[in-house]
Amino acid sequence: MTLTGNLLIGQRAITGTQAAIHAINPATDTPLDPLYAGASAEQVTQACTLAWAAFDAYRETTLEQRAHFLETIAEQIEALGDTLIDRANAETGLPKARLLGERGRTCAQLRTFARVVRAGEWLDVRVDNALPERQPLPRPDLRQRQVALGPVAVFGASNFPLAFSVAGGDSASALAAGCPVVVKAHGAHPGTSELVGQAVARAVKQCGLPEGVFSLLYGAGREVGIALVSDPRIKAVGFTGSRSGGLALCQVAQARPEPIPVYAEMSSINPVFLFDAALQARGEDVAQGFVASLTQGAGQFCTNPGLVIARQGPALQRFIDAASVQVRQAPAQTMLTPGIASAYKAGVGALAGNANAQAAASGLPQQGPNQCQAQLYVTQAEAFLADPALQAEVFGAASLVVACDSDEQVRQVAEHLEGQLTATLHLDDGDLDQARTLLATLERKAGRILVNGWPTGVEVCDAMVHGGPFPATSDARGTSVGTAAILRFLRPVCYQDFPDALLPPALQHANPLQLRRLLDGQREA
Ligand code: NAP
Repeated sequence: MTLTGNLLIGQRAITGTQAAIHAINPATDTPLDPLYAGASAEQVTQACTLAWAAFDAYRETTLEQRAHFLETIAEQIEALGDTLIDRANAETGLPKARLLGERGRTCAQLRTFARVVRAGEWLDVRVDNALPERQPLPRPDLRQRQVALGPVAVFGASNFPLAFSVAGGDSASALAAGCPVVVKAHGAHPGTSELVGQAVARAVKQCGLPEGVFSLLYGAGREVGIALVSDPRIKAVGFTGSRSGGLALCQVAQARPEPIPVYAEMSSINPVFLFDAALQARGEDVAQGFVASLTQGAGQFCTNPGLVIARQGPALQRFIDAASVQVRQAPAQTMLTPGIASAYKAGVGALAGNANAQAAASGLPQQGPNQCQAQLYVTQAEAFLADPALQAEVFGAASLVVACDSDEQVRQVAEHLEGQLTATLHLDDGDLDQARTLLATLERKAGRILVNGWPTGVEVCDAMVHGGPFPATSDARGTSVGTAAILRFLRPVCYQDFPDALLPPALQHANPLQLRRLLDGQREA
């Protein structure tokens, strides 16, 4: 479990030949050993070639073999013990308690996908038996199942060094679908990535799978990511990061001779709507919950509540006052990277320099490098509607309250929003009619709509949607969190008039996998 700085190309640990990066401890601004040399174009090709060579064998592993593999990855990650938590803490500045929770989530996620794989529902088997006597034409025997798309390029996310990086949600769902994975580690936590990468590589070996099922690459600058997305053997991309990065990779994917889907999760300000009755009855409590959500993890969550919308009046003022008291007591926190800290500073600077945004409160003064000082700003709906800059994501613990003149203006602001991961409603019984008038708009805008809660803290389960219209994601039809994430990496194939002996087991007449099929229009029990 020592760090080597090597790429993992299948089972081989190889030193990169391009410019090297090292992690930086954001709490001290000091570099951490070892150096991670970037992959060359040839090394990217090697990883993709191995992934392609592994694809047909891996996608036809039995449900049990694949589920066992996912569980073995979880066991290998747990076996890394404190080494993993200590390194992730040094590389990200995230507290150890948070990282322990994130490791738990990562392993639970892998085990959840193991359950999904075993159950086989994702194969979505549909059988239309032949109707040889049908007039005027007989119907052939038609059978459909889902198959894996092919090798997937996964970009590790800076803000989830475990749960959305090397063996995180994108990798787990792609591997569950039967897709080999080539990960580009995020430059903010290469050591954490290497440790987890070694764990995955050990699981590949232990399970006797083809080595190309998993590779891990590093790269300083854009070349590795672009080469990976451009490689003809890569058939889909999973990404979490900036809007500019996600869009750049979408363009690369679209410009290929064979364009491929990019599932990029990019930018969301997660509006929170506060309705009158709720504000009047419990505005101070709502303010407390809001600031806790806003400042959690220095606001570095894609679901951070960056926008609050309500009708102006004494109740909203009491909410702003109570939230300001909480914000002023919020300690500064270390951000993930110097780049993210300076982007936050720039975003807050833009708000401070905007004549239409009034500063309501700032968190406790900063100490040390890369600190996030919480910020609360207030604007009027008219200004918000007129100025697109007020809708820009400020990644960190900053939020903007939009005060509206009327219910109609609340609706206009909702309609004006870009696509979002979440929209939150705080309401009491007396607010239901007004909330109902917003729902159609919010369904068009967001992937998850929640009532009387906070959007941070995304449950990994069957019903979760962590997605949404652009720019929240590049493809609103999917989710990157929860078991439905597997669907992004599958496509349907129909088998017509196949002899039973040639059919894959999932489609054979005797249904040896005991799947709940859609059989001649009826779902089997
Ligand atoms: P990022 O800059 O988008 O980088 C993410 C990954 O994509 C890195 O591996 C990066 O490679 C690669 N990449 C970025 N642009 C690329 C391009 N044009 N071509 C090829 N590869 C590219 O995201 P970040 O470093 O995590 O954070 C920067 C900002 O992203 C934050 O300040 C925040 O605004 C946003 N962010 C949003 C979320 C969210 O969930 N909404 C999460 C994290 C970050 P290199 O590092 O080698 O360039």
